[in-house]
Amino acid sequence: MATRTEMLEELGVAPQWRLRPTAAAPEVPATGSPDFAPAVAEEPRRAASAQPPRADAPEGADARVARIARLDWDAFAADVDACTACGLCRTRHKSVPGVGDRAAEWLFVGEAPGAEEDARGEPFVGQAGRLLDNMLAALGMNRQRNVYIANVLKCRPPNNRTPEPGEADACRPYLERQVALLRPKLIVALGKSAASLLLGTDATIASLRGRVHRYRGVPLIVTYHPAYLLRNLPDKAKAWEDLLLARETVAQAARPEDAEPPSVP
Ligand code: URA
Repeated sequence: MATRTEMLEELGVAPQWRLRPTAAAPEVPATGSPDFAPAVAEEPRRAASAQPPRADAPEGADARVARIARLDWDAFAADVDACTACGLCRTRHKSVPGVGDRAAEWLFVGEAPGAEEDARGEPFVGQAGRLLDNMLAALGMNRQRNVYIANVLKCRPPNNRTPEPGEADACRPYLERQVALLRPKLIVALGKSAASLLLGTDATIASLRGRVHRYRGVPLIVTYHPAYLLRNLPDKAKAWEDLLLARETVAQAARPEDAEPPSVP
């Protein structure tokens, strides 16, 4: 098994990145957060009362969103697997709902499954996934412990093309539900699709990095997609900086002295 130092080297960052303290970054609100999904911030964990749509009665869009917002973890994957809300259901081999620790503090969100993910039904199992695993390992984490991994789209777009807006909109209730069920302490948006969907902005990754954004009250860090990093090796060092900011953000949230004082009526 690779040592931590070897993992950091694989990331293209020398061990000194570990030693450098990360300054707390200013928080900025999400710009133009999407407004048609159910609120997620304080929702209690509870069993689903969701009923699958009757076969003889087509389900309306609002009813679908409301039903997905009531799914529990166990019903979630089956619902994604049965989804026909966009054309990707006709070309997928397996749906890819998500993987990881259902009590995780960290949620990583990528773009969409690729060929290997489509074949196996699990996100980030290809080459980009191996890099993501190394990034997690460099942080002392792995996809079974304290990490949950999901994508904006749960089904593979043909030839790995960029998700179309209609596909992202159709899949959005699922990601919303995953955030509501998980209630993570931190979201890491991997690449432009995830950042755009979660923050409702078309801004570049370069302009969104290095700050703590918010998605429905949850701190959110934007970084490069692992597939991009495989093609742009020098930017691995920037991604490592982003992960250190993410780790500091989680640590800060856990320190009571850093908590915001309660508001006085
Ligand atoms: N790229 C992604 O964005 N997600 C995956 O699951 C695999 C590759």
